[in-house]
Amino acid sequence: MRNIIKKIDQAGLVGRGGAEFPTARKWQSVKDAPGKVKYVVCNASEGELGLFKDIFILEHHLAEVMKGMVLAMDTIKTKKAYFNLNQNYHKKIKGKLGKLIKQYAKQDYEFEVFVEHPSYIGGEETALLDAIEGKRTQPRLKPPYPSDAGLFGAPTLINNVETFYNVALVAEDKYKNDRFCCLTVDGKRIDVYRQPADWSLEKILRETGNYPDYDFFVQVGGSASGVVYNQKQLSKNKLSGAGSLEVYRASMKPHQLLSQWFEFYAAESCGKCAPCRQGTFNLWKLIDKKTIDWKKIMAIVETMEKTSFCGLGKSIGVPVRSYLKNVEGRK
Ligand code: SF4
Repeated sequence: MRNIIKKIDQAGLVGRGGAEFPTARKWQSVKDAPGKVKYVVCNASEGELGLFKDIFILEHHLAEVMKGMVLAMDTIKTKKAYFNLNQNYHKKIKGKLGKLIKQYAKQDYEFEVFVEHPSYIGGEETALLDAIEGKRTQPRLKPPYPSDAGLFGAPTLINNVETFYNVALVAEDKYKNDRFCCLTVDGKRIDVYRQPADWSLEKILRETGNYPDYDFFVQVGGSASGVVYNQKQLSKNKLSGAGSLEVYRASMKPHQLLSQWFEFYAAESCGKCAPCRQGTFNLWKLIDKKTIDWKKIMAIVETMEKTSFCGLGKSIGVPVRSYLKNVEGRK
């Protein structure tokens, strides 16, 4: 299709993997990058707590996701794409995926499926590239960015599942700036909802019939690294980052919440840099104690924010600081 980048730009589409980078700009830079060999990569890693929209999209809209990938291949002039799949997701869609891959092979499009052990860092685009290349799943120093030097050193266009799905809708003039939202309430996965991107968090909860009848607070954009809001802030904030919304009872003890976050961060740290490797371990150990030492926690969090190599270590302040400010009422 001609002018797909222009259409994506006019639609205002941004990446749905969490970073919200304008999709048209990313596609244009890979298209413009010099090089005869280029690749498209679909990232279906989804290793963050509270996220399960990618598997919903893969199970219900796989053909559209692959159509988005083919449009990307045509745009950057390649016939080769990698489908990076969380191994649990691969089990669920491999039959349907295999059939579509065979159909596209008749038109010379090659889809290589890369099945990975689910991990948070596997969703980081350069770590994902290293994993596909057979190296340890660890992030690379940027620049160069994948659009200039990605997979095997070639310009590479990486988008997540929801982004490719949206591109297919844009191509058919069906895109409406909707967002998928994975809703978890009181520890239970409720469902994946689809609603206009400008709906407030309050509207999402009310319109889907999930507004709790008890006092609560929420976490948005990942149930480990996402931002925490209190009930009064719901009408002023929208879904951001990755599409998840988790509702916690107001009675939930900070200890329980911090344990959930720090255990996740300690388990998911890839170990490449000391501030995150050691910091996540130290935070996790601090939670072993009965009382919460906020001073020590904040000192470690601050060091990690300033000195960690990648977004995983740097992001730990987001949930901790927003929880302290918006729920505990501290500065
Ligand atoms: S911040 Fe954490 S995840 Fe990122 S490179 Fe360092 S150790 Fe790995």
